[in-house]
Amino acid sequence: MKKVRIVVWGLGAMGSGMAKALLARPGVEIVGAIDRHEGRMGRPLGQVLGIDGPDINIEADPQTIIVEGSADLAIIATASFTTEVYQQLEMAAKAKMNIITIAEEMAFPAAQQPELAKQLDQLAKENNVTILGTGINPGFVLDTLIIAMTGVCLEVESIKAVRINDLSPFGPTVMHTQGVGTTPEEFAQGVDAGTIVGHVGFPESMEMIAAALGWKLDSIEQTKEPIVSTVYRETPHVTVQPGMVAGCKHIANGKINGKTVITLEHPQQVRPELEEVETGDYIYVTGTPGINLSIKPEIPGGIGTMAMAINMIPQVLQAGPGLKTMKDLPIPAAVLGDIRDLLTQE
Ligand code: NAD
Repeated sequence: MKKVRIVVWGLGAMGSGMAKALLARPGVEIVGAIDRHEGRMGRPLGQVLGIDGPDINIEADPQTIIVEGSADLAIIATASFTTEVYQQLEMAAKAKMNIITIAEEMAFPAAQQPELAKQLDQLAKENNVTILGTGINPGFVLDTLIIAMTGVCLEVESIKAVRINDLSPFGPTVMHTQGVGTTPEEFAQGVDAGTIVGHVGFPESMEMIAAALGWKLDSIEQTKEPIVSTVYRETPHVTVQPGMVAGCKHIANGKINGKTVITLEHPQQVRPELEEVETGDYIYVTGTPGINLSIKPEIPGGIGTMAMAINMIPQVLQAGPGLKTMKDLPIPAAVLGDIRDLLTQE
C-alpha cells in the first residue's frame, strides 16, 4: 500500500509542529506545503522546520499544490473561523482531498454557521471526501472528552467543566486576543469592541455536547472577566504589572427552559503559578452516576492539538463522505505504528 500523501496548509506554530511530527512517522509523506508568510513562502520545507526535510518548497499559491490526484489529505492550520477557512476547505474538497482542520469554529460549524456547514457537508459528499475539525479545545477537552465520560451515565442532569491553563508559551496574537497586559478598563473596552475575544469555541463545544446527548439548547450566554494580577508577571511577549490584566476568565452557560445544563469555564492567564494557581482540566457530571474527573496539570494545548489532528488521520481516511465532528468518528488514539496498518486494505 502506498504511503498516505498529505498537504500541510499553514506552517505556523501548529502546522510546522505537525509537519515535523508527520515526517518522523512511517506510512505518511508530505507532498505539499502552503504558507503565504513572508519568512516561509518559497523556502524549502526542511529548512523552515530546521530538519532534513523532503525536497519540496513551501508555496504561497495553493493552485499549484491543491490539485486532484496529488494528495489523500490536507491538514489546514491557517485560521480560526469557518468563514476564514471556507475557501481553503472548498478548494481541497474539490481536489478530492480529505481534510482535517484545527480552525476552532470547524469543530462544530453548525453552531454558528449552519448554512456553511450544510454546504461543506454537500461539497464533501459530492467529492467523496471527509472533512473534520478538531484540536485540543474545541475538539477534545471541553467537548469530546465530556461526551465520552457521559457514556457511563444513565441520566445527566447537568455538566460543568473547567480548563485552567497557562498562556505563557503563546505569542503576541494570543496576548492581544486574551487582553493580557491591558488595564481592567482597556480590557472592558476591548471586550466591547470585539478585539478581546477570550476563547474561541464555546458555542461549538456546547452544541457538540448537546447534539451528542440529544439536548436542544435554548441559549448560550458568555461572559469574559479580566483576571487582574496582584503580582508582577512576565513572559517573552508581555509584562503585567500588579493591577493589570494577566488573562481572561471566559465562561459559557448553555440553558434549556431557563436552567443551566452545561457550564464551561476557561480561565487563561500568563504565569498562573505566581499566584499559586494550579492548571488543570476538570469535568463534573451531575447525573446517574455523578462523575468527577481531574487532570492535573492541564493537557498541554500545543502538543495536544498537533497530536489530535495527526491521530485522527486514520479515522478521517476511513469515514464515509461528509462533514464530520469528533462525536461522529471512532475514538482517537495515539497512532504509534504505521498509519497504513490501521487502514482497511483496498
Ligand atoms: P499561527 O499564526 O502560528 O500560524 C498560522 C499560519 O497560517 C501562518 O504561518 C500564516 O502565514 C498561515 N496562513 C494563514 N492564512 C493563510 C492563507 N490564506 N494561505 C496560506 N497561509 C496562511 O497559528 P497557529 O498557532 O499555528 O494556529 C493556527 C490556527 O489554529 C489558529 O487560528 C489557532 O487559533 C487555531 N488553533 C486551534 C486549536 C484547537 O484546539 N482547535 C489549537 C491551536 C490552534
